[in-house]
Amino acid sequence: MTTTQSKLSATFPHLEWNFDVPLAPRTYMKIGGPAEALLQATDVNTIKDVITFCTNEAIPVTILGGASNVIISDDGVRGLLLFVTIDTFKVLDEKDDSCIFIQAGAGIKMAALVSQTVSAGATGLEYFLGVPGTLGGAIYNNAHYLTDLIGTHVESVHVLSKDGTDHWVKAEDCAFAYEHSRFQNSNEIILEVIFKLKKGDKESSLTKIAHATQYRAKTQPLGIPSSGCIFQNVPNTPKLQKQFPDFAEKPYVPGGYIIDQAHLKGTKIGGIQVSTKHAAWFENDGTGTSQDVKTLIRTVKDRVKKEFDVELHEEVFYLE
Ligand SMILES: Cc1cc2nc3c(=O)[nH]c(=O)nc-3n(C[C@H](O)[C@H](O)[C@H](O)COP(=O)(O)OP(=O)(O)OC[C@H]3O[C@@H](n4cnc5c(N)ncnc54)[C@H](O)[C@@H]3O)c2cc1C
Repeated sequence: MTTTQSKLSATFPHLEWNFDVPLAPRTYMKIGGPAEALLQATDVNTIKDVITFCTNEAIPVTILGGASNVIISDDGVRGLLLFVTIDTFKVLDEKDDSCIFIQAGAGIKMAALVSQTVSAGATGLEYFLGVPGTLGGAIYNNAHYLTDLIGTHVESVHVLSKDGTDHWVKAEDCAFAYEHSRFQNSNEIILEVIFKLKKGDKESSLTKIAHATQYRAKTQPLGIPSSGCIFQNVPNTPKLQKQFPDFAEKPYVPGGYIIDQAHLKGTKIGGIQVSTKHAAWFENDGTGTSQDVKTLIRTVKDRVKKEFDVELHEEVFYLE
């Protein structure tokens, strides 16, 4: 046993610890070495206690939700790997006739969250049903479906700082933007989220869900190990409008479109390949490593820079 493993199991003997756990089977990309100490935490108080202890003992902490948007190092993760699995859901009793306020735990799966909001008669989150992973991961990344960003539906976010104190952050202080939120820099753990949603009609919500599901199936290589889009879309500029006139009227040029124009579909390094269905996605044939992913990312970025003078940026997060 390592010192970290002994300290955690001795201090919190009632918690279910997993030590030296291979992470690849737990990620959507099927990549990643072992976690020194893994814990799934279903309630706020457990997270508070464990995080405060780790901060005092200088034990590094890594947070995960559904592990659908990460490239985990082949060497694994040192210290504590905390999966936030708080999956609460409640409709709040707010006095506002036109809106429904919903509070959900950061560990709720997006599909469950959306189904429950629709059942509660609320509209706004339908397009996010097909985003894998948890609410916490979606807020961290400000998950998007086409131009709809999840942050635009948020009222406030309950967070824990590494010193063990918690507080609510209003949406206007969350710095939500395309592929961005304050949580990418603040070191805060997302615990719960309150959404302000409109009252909706269940039939039209189900129609929206069906459209989004069909669109995803048509355009994305679903069912193959991946992390979704590896690259972000690229903000449009007058130069890009000339280079890619099909997208001249759009705020962004899709990263996948540019990669396709650079003839990179199907390019393979080790076990990782640029998808032939959606060029911003990488597929793992089951033998891929995080090193393969990084090398393929470098290859794609270099070629796109050379061909079009465009800098691509990752949408996935690296966990080392
Ligand atoms: C098939 C497929 C389709 C996808 N489609 C979409 C899509 O339509 N739109 C889209 O935006 N993305 C999409 N993605 C990417 C990904 O699913 C989303 O970004 C998702 O929101 C990530 O959630 P997660 O819980 O899996 O996050 P994880 O992968 O577990 O974590 C991602 C990052 O968030 C941090 N994090 C997670 N939970 C917390 C928390 N509670 N507190 C603080 N930090 C936290 C982690 O530390 C990590 O840095 C897709 C991925 C796949 C595999």
